[in-house]
Amino acid sequence: GNPLLKVNNLQTHFKSDAGVVKAVDGVSFAVSKGETLGIVGESGSGKSVTSLSIMRLLKDTPGQIAGGEILYDGQDLVKVSESQMREIRGNDIAMIFQEPMTSLNPVFKIGRQLEEAIRLHLKFGKKEARARAIEMLKAVGISRPDTIVDEFPHQLSGGMRQRVMIAMAMACNPKILIADEPTTALDVTIQAQILDLMRNLSKTAETAILLITHDLGVVAEMCDRVVVMYAGRAVEESDVYSIFSNPKHPYTQGLLASIPKMGERVDRLQSIPGNVPIPTRMPEGCKFAPRCPLAMEVCWEKEPAYKEVSTKHSVRCWLHEEVPNDEPELVGSAQ
Ligand code: SF4
Ligand code: MG
Repeated sequence: GNPLLKVNNLQTHFKSDAGVVKAVDGVSFAVSKGETLGIVGESGSGKSVTSLSIMRLLKDTPGQIAGGEILYDGQDLVKVSESQMREIRGNDIAMIFQEPMTSLNPVFKIGRQLEEAIRLHLKFGKKEARARAIEMLKAVGISRPDTIVDEFPHQLSGGMRQRVMIAMAMACNPKILIADEPTTALDVTIQAQILDLMRNLSKTAETAILLITHDLGVVAEMCDRVVVMYAGRAVEESDVYSIFSNPKHPYTQGLLASIPKMGERVDRLQSIPGNVPIPTRMPEGCKFAPRCPLAMEVCWEKEPAYKEVSTKHSVRCWLHEEVPNDEPELVGSAQ
């Protein structure tokens, strides 16, 4: 069907002493109702800045959306007023972060924080909000919700806090849930439980999920489609099966090769040498050229465009695009 959210060539810039840093410089993707879209990349790839841009939560950063569109429900979120955006946040698009301690207020009881979020967005009365809070805590698998409501965030484990955050995010039935590394801080067992929970919630409520992660295992487990980001750009997008079976961008290929296989020792892990380029010192052409085993001359000179190379499979790489011929055409005979 029609995409719920469509990001077109997003550009988010940061002003710094070293000049303008283009943290996001050409990100496009779309997500549909009920779909889980993964956004993967190393730290510094711009994936978190992309999600903060969608939420328009750059206010506390030196960042600013400098171009592109974020289309949601017939409006461009780049252009809507701050008060419209406040309505959209929480009601339509909710977000959870890696460390819920930073988004929960340590001095208020869990119940009060949940109720306040519910009352703010759903205009519920006090009693209704209490009932909804307890219902949501049950929905996220908290077994004694009437006890938990009277506890403070520090009394809960990391996994429980993340469940509370998910309850808070889902309480208002958002259309889209943005989850930025939601399980990275949790141990493996709890991580699997939280992912399970998110998968079930998205299925029953048909919530679209934008799952930001550096973990391709999480992508394989959770996502329908995936966008690979590198140096502020989207470099490949496809359905998860195609990404794993037929990755087209050398960076994606490198990422996949760096996942340890079953029984393989970690010291034999093949990874991509080098680092994501410093934003103020971006190479001229393809931003991956300094690390790319397949780099050609053109790669150093000109940045490839982001192109659909087969159905719903887009890549930004000269290997999948016709290399331009810069030689001037000879007109007539050259004598
Ligand atoms: Fe490698 Fe060139 Fe493709 Fe960049 S454009 S990923 S350098 S082959
Ligand atoms: Mg991040």
